[in-house]
Formats: sequence, C-alpha cells, structure tokens
Amino acid sequence: MRNFWRDIKGTLQPFWITLGYLFKKPVTIQYPEEKRTPPPRYRARLVLTRDPNGGERCVACQLCSAACPVDCISMQAAEDEDGRRYAAWFRINFSRCIFCGLCTEACPTLAIQTTADYEICNREVLNLVYEKQDLLIESGGKDTEYNFYKHSGIGVAQVRGEGEEEHGPVDPKSLMP
Ligand code: SF4
Ligand code: SF4
Repeated sequence: MRNFWRDIKGTLQPFWITLGYLFKKPVTIQYPEEKRTPPPRYRARLVLTRDPNGGERCVACQLCSAACPVDCISMQAAEDEDGRRYAAWFRINFSRCIFCGLCTEACPTLAIQTTADYEICNREVLNLVYEKQDLLIESGGKDTEYNFYKHSGIGVAQVRGEGEEEHGPVDPKSLMP
C-alpha cells in the first residue's frame, strides 16, 4: 500500500511542476524576431583593430595562430619601408573557430579582439572564411587608446628608448668588468 501512494505521488508531482511553469514568464526567445543583447565580454566574431593613429595593430607575429587550438588562423608577414611589420594577408576560417578567445589572450598588440556579433552563420562554408579586408575595422575596439609601438618602442615607429615604458639601449661593452 505504501508503494501505491508513492507511485501516485510520483505520477502526479511532475504534472504539478509543469502546471507551475504555466504561470511563470517564459525564458524562450523567439529568435530571429527577438534578439538577445549578449554580455559585453561575449566571445563571437573576431575583428582586427587599429591603433589611435589609424595604423594596423597586427604585426603578424603568428602568436594567435600558434595559440589557436583548431588551427583556423593563417597569415603572411610583410614589412613596410620603415621596417614595421604587418600582415600581407590574414585569414580566419570561422567554420572551424570555437570562439574560445585564446587568440585574443595571446595577442601582444591587442590587434585581434572578440565582438558580440554572433550572427555569422552561413550555409556556404567558404563564406565563413574571412580575409583581412573582412576582419579589419576602423576602430581600436575595446581599448581605443592602446598603441603597441608607443609602449614597446622597438626602434621602428620611434627611436629606441623613446617608448613610454622602454629603457634606452645598453652598450654591452659597458657591462664588462
Ligand atoms: S577564438 Fe579560439 S578557435 Fe577561434 S580563432 Fe581564436 S583561438 Fe582559434
Ligand atoms: S593578431 Fe595579434 S597575435 Fe595575431 S599575428 Fe597579429 S599581432 Fe600577432
């Protein structure tokens, strides 16, 4: 008899819980008619940003490519006339990207950044291969003030030792006993 009442309770309880949800606000969103605003640090489409002078931040160091667990970033490095490196071409295959954000963590120049643009689905896989012209934006993204060359001062954008956090060059002979 005890089992009988336990089974009755077990049968009715789920209906009771379902009934309770009929009077709660639904959490389902009617996408694409309704769109959610993702949180600010949401990781979706990647972009390449520019420094405050409008220059390309990317120096084609390949670190993002090395950090990417699914190998979906590729590029070719080039140098302009003053020795500043840039990516001659830069490609991300979003059909493989898992939006982990590791590339943005690895980037020393803040060039590659995630955005909240999650609407990049496409039935054609080749349309998910983004080239540099698709990735490069006219903005500094999340930090518009950061200028890699001002901090690192690698003797390309200014004289060695003139970077904001850079020590002047040292003559190795002066260190000898
Ligand atoms: S977000 Fe992750 S998977 Fe996508 S390109 Fe960056 S490192 Fe690769
Ligand atoms: S996006 Fe950043 S990590 Fe990737 S190549 Fe350019 S500078 Fe290096």
